[in-house]
Amino acid sequence: MSSITLHRARTVLPVATPPIADGAVAVRDGRIVAVGTHDDLTAELGTAVGERHEWDGTLTPGLVNAHTHLQYTDMAAVGRGSYPSFETWALAFEQGYRVEHDWAASAAEGARQSIEGGTTAVAEIVTDPAAGSAVHDAGLHGIVFWEVFGFKRAGWEVDGRERVLAQLDALPSPPATGLSPHAIYSLDTDVFRSLQQLAEEQGVRLHIHAAESASEDEFARFGTGPLADRWRGLGHSDMQLLSAGGSGSGVVHYLDTVGVLTPHSHLAHGIYVDADDRALLRERGVSVALCPRSNAVIGLDAPPIAAYLREGNPIGVGTDSLSSSPSLHVLDDVAELHRLAQVQGYTGDDLHARLLHAATAGGARALGLGLGSGPAPSGFLAADARADLAVFDVASTSPRDALAELVESAPAAVATIVDGRTLWTAAPSTGSGNQGAGSGTQGADSGTRQNGTNR
Ligand SMILES: [Zn+2]
Repeated sequence: MSSITLHRARTVLPVATPPIADGAVAVRDGRIVAVGTHDDLTAELGTAVGERHEWDGTLTPGLVNAHTHLQYTDMAAVGRGSYPSFETWALAFEQGYRVEHDWAASAAEGARQSIEGGTTAVAEIVTDPAAGSAVHDAGLHGIVFWEVFGFKRAGWEVDGRERVLAQLDALPSPPATGLSPHAIYSLDTDVFRSLQQLAEEQGVRLHIHAAESASEDEFARFGTGPLADRWRGLGHSDMQLLSAGGSGSGVVHYLDTVGVLTPHSHLAHGIYVDADDRALLRERGVSVALCPRSNAVIGLDAPPIAAYLREGNPIGVGTDSLSSSPSLHVLDDVAELHRLAQVQGYTGDDLHARLLHAATAGGARALGLGLGSGPAPSGFLAADARADLAVFDVASTSPRDALAELVESAPAAVATIVDGRTLWTAAPSTGSGNQGAGSGTQGADSGTRQNGTNR
């Protein structure tokens, strides 16, 4: 059996259990062996510890980006704009998309930026095959979803299923792969049903953009509004939702009627939802990835974070892509959610803890990688969990203040560790690879780390 690596930090935030001052996480063979105070673990594990890392900052589970398109990393110019509506952003996106891109390089750069933000797992949506291997190549966890859009019933019946299956099969694994039916306005009702069936047959998860814009809501309810007009103008009046004059209900209930709200699916955005919709999502076990900075760039309303928290919906945090967001750093969206929750009147004193939970365990749950998902769950620090860790440049010394600083001020990452392997670090930890017990015990504050300059 290989020896244990001990990661020590001024504060350890296990998520599933209370914060630990001068904490440590013991790792072996890609799994966590134990979590506790540095002194307790040192006494308990003794000579079983080989390598030691002394990190200057706060150690957390690796962040989970529950909604992104790393493929569009080189479309940051679009994301730097600000837009009055979803439709105006979509036009800018389409123009930016049409010029020639090296999607493989763009997605690889997105994976690099993600890792440098402390992210260890992503819900990545791939639209062009060239972008399909970036997550695999980078060694990140998560799910790579093949995006399906632009199918009406007739076209789907010709060869849609075969084409989608071929694209799904072409995605390299690990990580797991999945299907992303794009949105209710870009696929016919029967195609959604068929994709649900296909996902079940293949044993893969679904991820859907949903309730992102007011015009999408109107499209679903009545088959009217700016998005519906645009689709009719492009010759798609025969879409089932449009020719039927809408479904009579909002996006979430419509998706339920086509059978895609299951514990094996998760949604992105979830802005235009009411209490009924949120109750249905809870009933179906469906998580929502909230992407508040993307919503702001596109000129949409803010997600109802306070309501989601108060009512107990499972949520994750996504950055979306750089074509609609300033960075791929999940903590930037966490800070924005913190601000929004306060603006929306959330008064619970658990806000910091719940938002860190959303960005870690909540994201893992959304991707089917959380507690109960299998022998090596992720998103929290506990014995037997996957050793996916991140360290952040947090100055606060008390665990309570460190948690608040982490959530409110989006500190830079210091290190990203996947399966117990340091995938990236801003600068080496102090400590040692010495096999002798009791060595490498410099104080956690004595590190020589440069300030993270990766933002
Ligand atoms: Zn998206």
